Amino acid sequence: MMNWPQEQCDKALGELRELYRDIEDKSGLEFSTPYQLLVATILSAQCTDVRVNKVTAELFGKADTPEAVIELGEDGLLEEIKSCGLAPSKAKNIIAASRLILSDYDGEVPDELEELVKLPGVGRKTANVVLSQAFGIPAIAVDTHVNRVAKRLGLADGSNVQKVEQELMQRIPRENWAKAHHWLIWHGRQICKARKPDCAGCPAAPYCRYAREQAEAESE
Ligand code: SF4
Repeated sequence: MMNWPQEQCDKALGELRELYRDIEDKSGLEFSTPYQLLVATILSAQCTDVRVNKVTAELFGKADTPEAVIELGEDGLLEEIKSCGLAPSKAKNIIAASRLILSDYDGEVPDELEELVKLPGVGRKTANVVLSQAFGIPAIAVDTHVNRVAKRLGLADGSNVQKVEQELMQRIPRENWAKAHHWLIWHGRQICKARKPDCAGCPAAPYCRYAREQAEAESE
């Protein structure tokens, strides 16, 4: 794979910024506290944001603090979230994370990566989502869309999400980290889809490594 020039990366990101200007601050997940976002993000693994929002609208009406969720109990929580995939393990993790938040963090979701990833069910992606969206701390959460689109564009080549996260942090100015996360996610959902990217309809195509490589392969 070609090492893709920074100038091309900047131009591609500029196109995505234009394209998603109106929705760049929007998470697909609805929340009003860090704890709500933490729970919603745990629930979002292998589940659509639309489904998660339906589930949390009901759940948060009944319980939206660590105390109240523990009060529901694992079975009660499972009943609330059963329409999300992997519900039994998510219920277990959310209850365990809530207990830890109460016992070790005075009932408040921690605002440091090293602490967040100690919570059951919280990996780097979830932790970075919470940091950037709930606390406004610059971070780049790498999910499947971010990983795929970043690699196609030539922004990153890392063999795991941590390496991709580091490459993106070097390629993208810090003030754009949280927004770039959204640009890449929306692009992955709407245009640069996993199976069939719509390169013909993509404004970043002139600056995209994958598009260049495809064009070169076709002309050989
Ligand atoms: S040109 Fe194609 S591969 Fe590159 S970002 Fe656009 S849709 Fe994705």
